[in-house]
Amino acid sequence: MSFPDAPPRASAPPSAPAVEGAAKTRIVALIVAVVALGFLGVIVANYLVSRAWVRQTIVESDLPLTSDTLYSEIQQDLLKPIFVSSLMAHDTFVRDWVLDGERDPGRMTRYLAEIQQKYDAFTAFFVSERTGVYYQSKGVLKSVHPDEPRDVWFYRVRGMERPYETNVDPDLANHDTITIFINFRVLDYQGRFLGATGVGLQASMVKQLVERYEREYRRTITFVDRNGMLQLYGRDYDARQPDIRQRPGIAAIADALLATEQGSFEYRRDGQTFFVNSRFIPDLDWYLLVEQNGTAALASAQRTLVTSLGVGAAATLVVGWLCALLVRRSHRRLETLAATDPLTGLLSRLAFAVVFAQAAERARREPKPMALAFFDIDHFKAINDTHGHAVGDRVLAMVAERLQAAVRGGDALARWGGEEFLLLLEDCDLDAAAAVAEKARAAVAGAPRALADGGALALTLSAGVAERRPGEDAAALIARADAALYRAKRAGRNRTARDA
Ligand code: GH3
Ligand code: MG
Ligand code: MG
Repeated sequence: MSFPDAPPRASAPPSAPAVEGAAKTRIVALIVAVVALGFLGVIVANYLVSRAWVRQTIVESDLPLTSDTLYSEIQQDLLKPIFVSSLMAHDTFVRDWVLDGERDPGRMTRYLAEIQQKYDAFTAFFVSERTGVYYQSKGVLKSVHPDEPRDVWFYRVRGMERPYETNVDPDLANHDTITIFINFRVLDYQGRFLGATGVGLQASMVKQLVERYEREYRRTITFVDRNGMLQLYGRDYDARQPDIRQRPGIAAIADALLATEQGSFEYRRDGQTFFVNSRFIPDLDWYLLVEQNGTAALASAQRTLVTSLGVGAAATLVVGWLCALLVRRSHRRLETLAATDPLTGLLSRLAFAVVFAQAAERARREPKPMALAFFDIDHFKAINDTHGHAVGDRVLAMVAERLQAAVRGGDALARWGGEEFLLLLEDCDLDAAAAVAEKARAAVAGAPRALADGGALALTLSAGVAERRPGEDAAALIARADAALYRAKRAGRNRTARDA
């Protein structure tokens, strides 16, 4: 049994059911919050871990691996030209021809043409220290001069300790095509510098390599020089801004990148994250940059995040709904337990207080008489003593049943104490209440109960009635009804007495 909420009163504290309702909502909200936080924590942690993992895989594994592979392929492609250049530098023909005074340049030219053809080089050359003449497969090209910026390389090689260098420059003999030169030092039999010789390769061979790798790995591969100027790039690269220190996004890390031999970087452009692996390649004097758009790779982690959040929210809602259901159910059970007297099924003392408060409120809004009848079984102690407590209990239940049957359905009947009952009568003055109480008393007294052991039980009760005075509380009204009951007892029991 549960009771409807009491009508709101502006200045009074909220009624018990309202307070309990708020507590219920708080409990469910708390559970939902804990579950939601739990889900959120796990999902966010998961997302962060998978993001970190994607990032780590790209930065520490994918990009360096591509860079390494490309680097070693470039090295391998340079091996043959270095070997050929080394052969040229140590060829006795070359040295003897120079020591002989560089007579008949055609001999040298033919030699260079043969090397170029045989080893499939882009160009082959010899530059003499003594005459400064630049020989090439097609003939004498020019003379080198210390003041000519294009000839700087020769004077560098002349003073170099190492036997050779790799150098990327435009080739004067071939319409300034970007060429990778292997510049080998040629020494006479006493170790004196005679000149520089070697072959040149078209940088396009590296370009082909770049394009093949871009296709295979779906990464952007570029080469920039020490100043950050773009030197080589794949087919789809937008090279309108050749200076990486000016390019949108990468400009932010360009200086740091050009200051390190090898490193991992990250920049943002158009709201996307890009990862860069850079490595300086001494043979080319260039940086090799391998880039990947991290946003695309992180998108799958983001998709999982969204799905998980959806599932988590749905699960939280289901948990919240189930909790609300459970809390409401158990609360109702508790309410019923608290509101009902277990032995007689009548209202408990607690429930009576609530019912009284509601009735008093109704009487306040719409003034009508209201009365109370107080019943007490006569000589109940004797019944217990004679027949035992179990019989006493059954008698109590029976009396409750009889009283309930004798009164209107809307009247509130409560078990007040051991064998005491209260009947609250709304819209009822003292006379009417006395009549109801008398009718109820007679109903109980009228039928003696047959006992299991064959005997019969003469059962009577006394009643006291009082009408509520305006504003009177339950305790005062009960006290007056109790006083009337006392008089009924004094007058010989089995009767109804009115409040004086
Ligand atoms: P009176 O006519 O003056 O009311 O006499 P009485 O014997 O009924 O008086 P009293 O109120 O002193 O006795 C009430 C008895 O009811 C005493 C108590 O043991 C008994 N009682 C109270 N609650 C229960 C109960 O739940 N079950 C049973 N069997 N007895 C109860
Ligand atoms: Mg009593
Ligand atoms: Mg009694």
